[in-house]
Amino acid sequence: MCWLCDSGKPQLHGNSQLGRRDFLKTAAATGLTAGGLNLFAARPARADDDRDDPPEDSGRRGRRYVIRGGAVMTMDPRMPNKGEWTQADVLVEGKKILAVGPNLHAGGAGEIDARGRIVMPGFIDTHHHQFETALRSYLADGVLINDGSGSRASERTYFERILLTFAPVYRPEDVYISELFGGLAQLDDGVTTVHDVSQIHHSPQHSDAAIQALFDTGRRAAFGFFESAGAAILGTNPGNQYPQDAPRIKQQWFSSSDQLVHMIMGGEVYLGDASTEQSWKIGRQLGLQVAAHILSPFGIRPIMDALAQGQGGSNHDIGIGADNLFIHMTGMSDMAWNRVKQAGAQVSIAFPIEMNMRHGMPPIVRMLSMGMEPSLSTDVEVTLTADFFTQMRSAMNLQRVVVNQMILDSPNGNQNLPDPRNWELPQTAVTVPGPFPYWPTPPADVPPPLATRDVLRYATINGAKALRLEGKTGTLTPGKEADIIILDATAPNVFPVNNVPGAVVSLMERTNVETVIVAGKVRKWKGRLLGVDLPRLRQQLEASRDFIFAKAGVAQELFH
Ligand SMILES: [Zn+2]
Repeated sequence: MCWLCDSGKPQLHGNSQLGRRDFLKTAAATGLTAGGLNLFAARPARADDDRDDPPEDSGRRGRRYVIRGGAVMTMDPRMPNKGEWTQADVLVEGKKILAVGPNLHAGGAGEIDARGRIVMPGFIDTHHHQFETALRSYLADGVLINDGSGSRASERTYFERILLTFAPVYRPEDVYISELFGGLAQLDDGVTTVHDVSQIHHSPQHSDAAIQALFDTGRRAAFGFFESAGAAILGTNPGNQYPQDAPRIKQQWFSSSDQLVHMIMGGEVYLGDASTEQSWKIGRQLGLQVAAHILSPFGIRPIMDALAQGQGGSNHDIGIGADNLFIHMTGMSDMAWNRVKQAGAQVSIAFPIEMNMRHGMPPIVRMLSMGMEPSLSTDVEVTLTADFFTQMRSAMNLQRVVVNQMILDSPNGNQNLPDPRNWELPQTAVTVPGPFPYWPTPPADVPPPLATRDVLRYATINGAKALRLEGKTGTLTPGKEADIIILDATAPNVFPVNNVPGAVVSLMERTNVETVIVAGKVRKWKGRLLGVDLPRLRQQLEASRDFIFAKAGVAQELFH
């Protein structure tokens, strides 16, 4: 938009959304509303504006469209021009990317005008408990477990409230609406793939409800078959079929690999050695990845050490493999880390949640020091947003606060993490030669500060690798499926762009996610989710929330 155009003096905008057709239309339109300068006049309806519709039948076999003229960041450095163009096109046919590059000939294909936009792969969340959507923000002040201190953080806690109080009362319909709503919300944010760690399997009907919701959301997902949260500990789940229901689930829902949703086996080790023995064996027999939360609370460090030595489980014969996906990995031993690296297991870090809820320091510096990289995970919206811009900024800033302080502390000869009681500069700080006396050259063993491309890689291709989906998604490489987001870089919070990866990571948020495409199909168009009846879904989610609170005997206090 431009006030000159709106006021009847149409301007041509070289690299903006306004093209020649708009110029003509605006000129005509202003004729109807002439009568002086009115910046707030409603724009007349434009009868012939087919450009405001998404390409017809997107995602259908043989259907072609081209995303034209955006700044394209493929996240595949092996492509020509390292996979980055200031202005280029992406040609999509059916559900796949056919070609990427400047000035593509697309025949009569439909066009999406991406001028002034950034075109990149959708984000990939490798650990998210979508069943908790109805409980959003309930635990905004809480930590993992009641520490007995009486502090506000220990008043409402994850273990006692979410797992032991709310989760056991869920019905299958509560699972369904939370899973669906949380998934659509993330689709709106440009997260085109999720690993849903659904720990709400009080019965096979609960499991089926979770899976149905993942399919109905219409985005790429891994269904993580985890335990019957809380109810397993309380013994209130006679219908619980975890983990032995896994073969039935796999056969009924996941016999094809040519669908958007696949399955991961949950192998929670804090449930005890017998459960580990059973769940890891079933998962491996089915050829599934085996995922588990690994963190020092809940006593997991010695369990992880046993697994690292191939002596986990009740028969002491369970070990770590390339098929493992470990979530958090906070507070683990050198031995465990060495084995994880050697085995080629995947690690998912939930930076904001780990920082907030006392999981321990997100192990990013350790991973980088070992030549490893994580994927990113949003974890729980009871405490923090599942927004991926928050993920990337938190990852980058957490790593930087640690390594920057390591560098500032380095002249002391002590390159350990800073003493948190003396965080800014220790009493023992010594100066270094040169014009900036407290600006040391980084020591060799301190990783460089993360850059925006690093966290973009964590948020895309690393997530695809973590879920064994790198053949299908994670980059805009021709041949892969078209999971694409188009980000508005003309918006007031971003314009003008002077650095594409920087604009995305440092400045953008959900409102910049203009268009979202999953497997070629346009799911969000010009800022609005398509085919979603939000008022109806809101009503269902609210009714479910009211039931859960009432059944759990918890009062709703909006200003707790
Ligand atoms: Zn989790």
